[in-house]
Amino acid sequence: YYDDNTVIYHNGQWLPATEARTGLYQQSFHYGNGVFEGIRAYATRQGSQILRARAHYERLLYSAKTMYLEVSHTVDELIALSEQLLEKNQLRNAYIRPLIYSDENMGLQPESRSNLFICAWDWAQYFDTGQLRVMTSPYRRPDPRSCHVDAKVTGHYANSILAMKDAKVKGFDDALLQDQQGYVAEATGANFFVQRDGVLYTPPKGNILPGITRTIVMELAAANGIRVEEKHFTPEWIYGAQGAFLTGTAVEVKAIATVDEQPFSLPWKDTFGALLQQQFQQKVRAA
Ligand code: PMP
Repeated sequence: YYDDNTVIYHNGQWLPATEARTGLYQQSFHYGNGVFEGIRAYATRQGSQILRARAHYERLLYSAKTMYLEVSHTVDELIALSEQLLEKNQLRNAYIRPLIYSDENMGLQPESRSNLFICAWDWAQYFDTGQLRVMTSPYRRPDPRSCHVDAKVTGHYANSILAMKDAKVKGFDDALLQDQQGYVAEATGANFFVQRDGVLYTPPKGNILPGITRTIVMELAAANGIRVEEKHFTPEWIYGAQGAFLTGTAVEVKAIATVDEQPFSLPWKDTFGALLQQQFQQKVRAA
C-alpha cells in the first residue's frame, strides 16, 4: 500500500507515509468508532477522474455524523484533497482511502474531536481469482437495531473479517452474509445481485451498506431495459438461478461462479452481469 515515496494527508499536512505518527490513546483505535470510505479514480482521456467523488464524501460525512465525529472539511475540500493526493503520488488508476478517527479518549462518551487521514494506492485487482466461489456465512450482518449499518464504520468490519476468514478456511473466496431474519444481505465488502427468470434482484436497503457501485449498476441496468427488483430472499432461493455477481468500489463488478457450490444455469458471458460488467468498465474510463 505504500513505500518510501508514498505521500499521505494527515491532519492538514502532506507527509511521507513512513513518517506519519498517531497516538495510542485514540478512541477509534480501541472501540472501532472510526469512519472511512473506499473510492476509486480511473485514468480517462481527460486525466484521472474520481468516480462519484461527491457521493462517497457525502457518505463519509454521514458516517461521521452517526458516530458524533466532527469534521471541519466540506465535501468540496475533501474532493480537492483527494485530487492533490493523486497528483502528489502520480497515481492515475487508484483506490483512495479517507479515514476519520476520533482523538484521545479512553471513555465511552463519543469523542467528537477527529483526525483525518487520506491515502491512495494502485489496487488493480481486489480478488486475485477469476469467478468467485462464495459461501453463505454462519456469521450474520450486524442488526440495524445494534448500529448504523448504512454507515461505513471501522468497527463494523470486525464482522466482515470473521466471515472472510471463515470462508477462506473452508476453501471459498468470499462469504455471503444474511441479515437477522435470514435473508441475504451482502458480502463482506460488496453488494450482491442475482439474476432469476430474466430479472435482476438485489436486497433492499435496511440491512446493507447501500453501495455506490450498486446504484451505478442499477442505473446501467435501467438504461439497458433490464428489470431490477429490490427484494428479500434466502440463500436457497439463489440456487439454480441464472447468474450472480458482486458490486463494490474495490471489487467493481465481479462474477460469481457458485454460491454454496451450486452453479448457475447460464454461462457468465450470457448473463446481465457480464453486460453490466463490461458497460461499467467502459463508463468509468470514458470521459
Ligand atoms: N457492502 C459493504 C459491507 C462494503 O464494505 C462495501 C464497500 N464499500 C459495499 C457494500 C459496496 O459499496 P460501494 O459500492 O459504495 O463501494
